[in-house]
Amino acid sequence: AHPVVVAGAGQAGFDTACALRSRGFQGRITLVGDEPPGPCHRPPLSKGYLTGSVTADEVLLRPASFFAEQDIELLTGDRVASVDRDRHTVLLESGLRLPYGSLVLATGCRPRTLPVPGASLTGVLSLRGLADAEDLRLRLTGPPRQLVVVGAGFIGLEVAATARGLGHEVTVVEAQPRALARALTPVMSDRLVAEHRAQGVRLLLGREVAALHGDGGGRVHVVELDGGERIAADLVVVGIGVLPNTAPALSAGLLVGDGVVVDERLRTEDPDIYALGDCARFPGPQAGRHIRLESVQNASDQARCVAAAICGEPYAYTSVPWFWSEQYALRLQIAGLTAGHDTTVTVGDPEGGRFSVFCFRDGRLTGVESVNRPADHGIARRLLTAGTDLTPATVRQPGFDLKKLPR
Ligand code: FAD
Repeated sequence: AHPVVVAGAGQAGFDTACALRSRGFQGRITLVGDEPPGPCHRPPLSKGYLTGSVTADEVLLRPASFFAEQDIELLTGDRVASVDRDRHTVLLESGLRLPYGSLVLATGCRPRTLPVPGASLTGVLSLRGLADAEDLRLRLTGPPRQLVVVGAGFIGLEVAATARGLGHEVTVVEAQPRALARALTPVMSDRLVAEHRAQGVRLLLGREVAALHGDGGGRVHVVELDGGERIAADLVVVGIGVLPNTAPALSAGLLVGDGVVVDERLRTEDPDIYALGDCARFPGPQAGRHIRLESVQNASDQARCVAAAICGEPYAYTSVPWFWSEQYALRLQIAGLTAGHDTTVTVGDPEGGRFSVFCFRDGRLTGVESVNRPADHGIARRLLTAGTDLTPATVRQPGFDLKKLPR
């Protein structure tokens, strides 16, 4: 079998290599990654890893021995610098050149940097990999700090919740008028904001950071907002979104636009080059347009699809997206896509922290956001996969319970 080179040893790259082997692929697989410890599970990095309840070993997707057992060549500390499509080779930053029959681009994303003066002061961090999380964990261990989180997205809010749980003084600054505006319904974002405030986080909406100021020794000291308000800070975490890593795709002359553009089989316009996970822009069947998703589910399910295509059994990627987040005692789960809805129906008890928000577009269920209602989440995923004629009127009926729907 022809050799497979996977650029990026994160969730998507790792799962592609494993899925190839479990399908019986016999050829050489080389997984090229630039994060030394090897592929890791990122969700704990903004949650349990920061409190110490999850260790570095537990974050690794597999120990080093696994790669030898599976005959997967793992090159850590290297990167794919460029792709030569005519010769079917990739050039690594180390100078090594690797031939490929199929090339898989699984390069993920990198955090956006804050475009204001002072953004490179000591004590201003972003969070993507294990090394970032270790740096943050060490700073959150010890005496209380004055932490400012810039951005009320998932990572920002999870870090805020974790830091608050560790006793730090936390301010969150969000430019949009509500938290997680792109990802969640207003009902859900309002509930999360209320929880943060109840837990003692100062959460400022519709406010922008204008500058960061140092203490004279190069360490961050003050966060200045638009309008001139100054907030004392000895630690700043920037969580203002990510940018897809598209350099290898660009070097190959492939189509790129907020991600590497692929078809429903996750193939670029070069039939020997695939892209998946956080870096890929694919036709979202539920969305009816090209989308880019940032979730473990998306990376893992797409990995199975790419492995099948490389093994000569291609299928169109149609998985229903799902995602989760944990903040304080609120376990949020999202099934489907809730952006673009025109009607929502809330079931349960938002104040008590157990509820679900059903989202409809043109009368059709498109997604369900649940807090501490795992059964709703599980059933919603099944319904969205199978197709459902559930209407807003049914969900609005008193005593409606998804568990009691005829299966
Ligand atoms: P990544 O896992 O980012 O892997 C890409 C890898 O490619 C990286 O190691 C990158 O350094 C490397 N790379 C980049 N360029 C090159 C190159 N040229 N050559 C070689 N390697 C390269 N998702 C959830 O569903 N639930 C959660 O609760 C959740 N929490 C999260 C918390 C944090 C702190 C973070 C950062 C993410 C979280 N996510 C969560 C998102 C989830 O981790 C990602 O969607 C997932 O890791 C995407 O997998 P990926 O392989 O596409 O990208």
